[in-house]
Amino acid sequence: MHSSPKVLRIALGERILVIAGPGDITREQADAIVNAANSSLLGGGGVDGAIHRAGGPEILEACKQIVARIGRLPAGQAVATPAGLLSARYVIHTVGPIWSGGNRGEAETLASCHRESIRIADESQLTSIAFPAISTGAYGYPVDQASRIAVSSAAAALEKATHVREIRFVLFDSPTWGHYANAARALGKPEE
Ligand code: ADP
Repeated sequence: MHSSPKVLRIALGERILVIAGPGDITREQADAIVNAANSSLLGGGGVDGAIHRAGGPEILEACKQIVARIGRLPAGQAVATPAGLLSARYVIHTVGPIWSGGNRGEAETLASCHRESIRIADESQLTSIAFPAISTGAYGYPVDQASRIAVSSAAAALEKATHVREIRFVLFDSPTWGHYANAARALGKPEE
């Protein structure tokens, strides 16, 4: 069954957190979309594959240049490339933690993915950034836990940001949207 897209908006002072889905992040018009990449930066499955397919070869070329300069990208860090054919201006690639039970710093690494991506967007003077549900696919992070970390770390970074005004989570399926929406409702009252 196909479920219709839902949007939850939570105002945080002058800034806004949006939880949208089911949706395809490659179609987002935000200044930057975030890719749940792997450390090789050479593309993969899931949202990573979708971004490279829709964005064309310019993104992979830019990733290869970054790898030539810095080597593999450690989990929790982020880098920006142009967005090729996508509507977004930039893709910010970050590497989420691989779930291995929860006692290997996964939560801190996942929070860092959000902080670092927002820091890069803010340093580039961008106003909007869209995230997928990092680590909840192939990397196996339980989505109820991932949603709480993702939303709280993104909201904390949004409050400190100078330029970033809107953070959107674009979730691929309804159950994932439900988890992120619940996590966001804990931060504030949704707008009508
Ligand atoms: P990871 O390796 O970090 O777990 P995945 O790409 O396997 O990354 O999954 C992360 C999330 O991205 C999952 O919820 C998956 O359903 C979702 N996803 C896959 N394709 C898209 C897309 N085009 N837009 C938004 N989310 C997507």
